[in-house]
Amino acid sequence: MQWAKCPGGCVAFFMRGGRLKFGVSYRAPVGLAPSNTLVKLDMSDSTNSDQTTTVDELRKLVLDFVEERDWKQFHSPKNLSMAMSIEAAELMEHFQWITTDASRGLDEEAKSAVGEELADVLCYALAIANELGLDVAATMRKKMVKNRAKYPVTEFRGRFGYDDPNPVGE
Ligand SMILES: [Mg+2]
Repeated sequence: MQWAKCPGGCVAFFMRGGRLKFGVSYRAPVGLAPSNTLVKLDMSDSTNSDQTTTVDELRKLVLDFVEERDWKQFHSPKNLSMAMSIEAAELMEHFQWITTDASRGLDEEAKSAVGEELADVLCYALAIANELGLDVAATMRKKMVKNRAKYPVTEFRGRFGYDDPNPVGE
């Protein structure tokens, strides 16, 4: 994978399926690195980990990126939901045609490329939350309460869903 500098982040170029692909990295932490500096993800950097970053900080990261470029004019919920779905398809593209076992055994380069697409999905998800004024934590906790009621452990433990033909306990 080749990296190039660009205003606001980095662009990754890489070959996949015989085609040249590229994607913008949003991983450069705003305020911690100059916008024109090449940034590589440092997994050992605990200052930017899930354990030390709030959802609000991530929302602000996305909001700043959008406002700096005057992109709110393009960010209707309709457009953002479409963009998120497209990024989800790019995420799936990494797993297309490979086996289930292979999808669980990605090497570090492939995992990093998948992470790029996951970041794109999350960026758009947070942009939707910003646009609609939805509180992500409250919304997600509320939905998980519904999920728990919809899929009680007693009925669904070890079963993937209503279509799983295996009865409970087998
Ligand atoms: Mg992408």
